[in-house]
Amino acid sequence: LSQENQQVLSAHEWLTKLYHHLIRFTKDGKAGYQYLKERGITDEAIDTFQLGFAPNTKDFTATFLEKKGFHQQLLVKFGLLSRNQEDGSVTDRFRGRVIYPIRNHLGKTIAFGARAIQDQEPKYLNSPETELFQKGKLLYNFDLAKKHIRKTSEAILFEGYMDVISAYQSGVQNVVATMGTALTELQAKLLKRYVDTVIICYDGDNAGVEATYKASKILQQVGCQVKIAHIKDGLDPDSYIKKYGGEAFKKEVIDASDTFISFYMRYLKKDYNLSLEGDRIRYLEQVLMELANIESSIEREFYVKELSTEFDISIDTLSSEIQHYRQKTG
Ligand code: ATP
Ligand code: MN
Ligand code: MN
Ligand code: MN
Repeated sequence: LSQENQQVLSAHEWLTKLYHHLIRFTKDGKAGYQYLKERGITDEAIDTFQLGFAPNTKDFTATFLEKKGFHQQLLVKFGLLSRNQEDGSVTDRFRGRVIYPIRNHLGKTIAFGARAIQDQEPKYLNSPETELFQKGKLLYNFDLAKKHIRKTSEAILFEGYMDVISAYQSGVQNVVATMGTALTELQAKLLKRYVDTVIICYDGDNAGVEATYKASKILQQVGCQVKIAHIKDGLDPDSYIKKYGGEAFKKEVIDASDTFISFYMRYLKKDYNLSLEGDRIRYLEQVLMELANIESSIEREFYVKELSTEFDISIDTLSSEIQHYRQKTG
């Protein structure tokens, strides 16, 4: 580790502790504490995730770090402080926000996510990407989730911090998140080292569904089995848990997750008007092509039967079409 990086890690460690102390024990952190309480986050979870609050001041953080002897320039570069374009003065970057320390796989804070507690924009302000922190190379909460992932050989993949924290505190602990960006091959490979199956549990809105398809493809490419958890009413995992509880989340969402192909059959329908014959045929071709990738003939037959009933086409015809695709792709 370069001396610069050591300094930066140390600054992050100090700030993690400071912000956490403020939210747990002081008046300065009260607004953040109340915000998390309203969202149903327990003290235990606040401690586990070292959540904190950065007060809404110009130079609280700046002064604190300066006293510790950190180089201002370094702190600006790593996004802990920001430089005013006009007068060049250096001030706090995270103000009046709840702080989510982003830990690397060894549990060291290398960046912060900071959430507005009123309608401040942007909703989340994160540390900039640097050599130390690259969103695409890291999964949020991997350090804590690892042992639970090993135990179950399954990982649950979310979009956001709050999804992870909510699930974790309600007892579903093999959970990680991509922090809002598309899953990368690197993240997929990282998961592959520990799991057979990844359950994708993205937000139930359109963006979430599109991202689910893309993440599935990447996970399959690196050899993971993929399951898809479906959340009703367009909720996200955190809001589902808040509304229906952790038990329901486990039973009705996670344990009830779909195979990739069932998800795909539903997902693909958005592109076709199935009351038109031509669209029905093209839809079926797409689905059969995907079915051709399934190694288990038992599993294939299961879906062939389903399609045969739905589209009133014989099992033989569907099966031979699949064989045709299988020969083509080898
Ligand atoms: P909340 O429940 O607090 O509103 P969320 O996690 O449901 O947050 P989403 O809008 O679903 O928020 O975004 C998912 C994730 O994407 C966030 O947890 C965060 O990691 C990331 N994200 C969202 N908005 C931003 C942003 N403006 N800048 C950086 N990252 C963001
Ligand atoms: Mn979303
Ligand atoms: Mn969300
Ligand atoms: Mn949310």
